[in-house]
Amino acid sequence: MTVHGNKASAASSLCQSCGLCCTGFACEVVIVKPEGDEAYADRFANGLVLASDGQHRFLELPCPAFDGNCTMYEQRPSDCRSYQCDLLEKVLGGALSRDKADQVISEVQGRLRELATEYNAGRSDPLSEQETYAALQSDHLCAREKGLEQRFWQQNPKYLGLVFLREKYFVA
Ligand code: SF4
Ligand code: SF4
Repeated sequence: MTVHGNKASAASSLCQSCGLCCTGFACEVVIVKPEGDEAYADRFANGLVLASDGQHRFLELPCPAFDGNCTMYEQRPSDCRSYQCDLLEKVLGGALSRDKADQVISEVQGRLRELATEYNAGRSDPLSEQETYAALQSDHLCAREKGLEQRFWQQNPKYLGLVFLREKYFVA
């Protein structure tokens, strides 16, 4: 196997145990190219939004193809194939061990579960983990726009911890 092949295999192995970009935690959108991404574009045509260049389209994450794993891995868009979060880049570049990356991913996954459990306590319409994180992201933006970010952080310490982990490990 070539060095390139080894890296591709390492990335594939890490990403298939993670999925945190697919859930909208580590990434916000999937870009869908006019050519080459037809399988995805056809399957999710209703969710796609035309980009300002008038050619590409994008879909806001979480991705509807994610069901614990990518349900169309062999046909995923080229953006998914090429995307590397900071964590993955560091593992591939040797700056972070695979064990440490696994620990970080597992910690984030556990905290997302805890966040959803806390958020949904007593709700008649519980949200999924990814919907919970997205709802809090939206609340956070609203609070920031109203100048109430400090109070929002005080009221949502679990979400704050996840934002910290996201910025420390996933977003360069
Ligand atoms: S968040 Fe990073 S490690 Fe996880 S699936 Fe996405 S690119 Fe891979
Ligand atoms: S198509 Fe697959 S790899 Fe791409 S965002 Fe959706 S679930 Fe993730």
